[in-house]
Amino acid sequence: MANTKRSVVLGGAGFLGSHLCEALLARGGEVVCADNFLTGARQNVAHLDGRPGFSLLETDITERLDLDGPVDEVLDFASPASPIDYARHPIETLRAGSAGTENGLKLAARKGAVFFLASTSEVYGDPTEHPQREEYFGNVNPIGPRSCYDEAKRYAEALTMAYSRARGVDIRIVRIFNTYGPRMRLSDGRVVPAFVGQMLRGEDFTVFGDGRQTRSFCYVEDEVAGILALLASDWKTPMNVGNPAEITILEFAEAVRRAARALGLPGADAKIVFRPFPENDPKQRRPDITKARRILGWEPKVPLDEGIRRTLAWFKEHA
Ligand code: UDP
Repeated sequence: MANTKRSVVLGGAGFLGSHLCEALLARGGEVVCADNFLTGARQNVAHLDGRPGFSLLETDITERLDLDGPVDEVLDFASPASPIDYARHPIETLRAGSAGTENGLKLAARKGAVFFLASTSEVYGDPTEHPQREEYFGNVNPIGPRSCYDEAKRYAEALTMAYSRARGVDIRIVRIFNTYGPRMRLSDGRVVPAFVGQMLRGEDFTVFGDGRQTRSFCYVEDEVAGILALLASDWKTPMNVGNPAEITILEFAEAVRRAARALGLPGADAKIVFRPFPENDPKQRRPDITKARRILGWEPKVPLDEGIRRTLAWFKEHA
């Protein structure tokens, strides 16, 4: 049966938002991509322009959010999401997770739509429990340099739960772990675009601290498949969606070199320069995805080497 849903993606011109718009359009139905282009870019959705069912709405959701006609799903992916971006825009980041999310929730309440919140592994802060299960409350410094993002998303989760309990809004909350792939902004400061950009420019990799901190990287196609599975489910509390394959940043640098070698790129023997470890940077991160496996039947499929190869190949063509 053809899908006839009308979905509104807040932050639809961002990295993840744009991949989500694409996947929702492929499902059939209508997609309204709303963005203020603070960290998103028109370019990210330029290829969707003119596709049946797609429309772009330039708007600041922290001010107001209204749409004529029916809406079936409001997906809130609107926020700066890299440490450099949210350090540059701390107030906008706090407002995206507070006023922006509330405007999204109010729209969902008015239209009788599902509200889907993109939350983050950052709600766990610098975790003292490892791997991170959804039941873990986290270890967040409320006034540190990352707090504008971490606390905004924690508040956004609390607000979403409150609209579910008090107003009966049908909600989903995904906690996204480090996701990478085509269309990340090379200058956004995150480790994947940083190393990809450095490799393509023939520069050294900048490793923060001793490089033994860990992350678990999920290829964007897997992440979006998990998001769609959660959207289609009726699970009403936060769910981790990420790749549990955990590696150190030094191992990640080696993986980028391997992918570069496989593609015959010149920067394959990039060296490493060490830089100071950022304040409150989590020392370890790995999702426990028992729930996603059991409830959604989802797990990531793209191994890191393959994902990095695809990402490098894309940037080589587009950067
Ligand atoms: N990192 C690094 N070099 C860079 C950028 C990041 O070593 O040029 C480290 C950073 O300190 C962190 C990890 O890589 O420990 C992941 O950082 P990212 O900003 O990608 O994401 P997040 O910290 O939000 O997980």
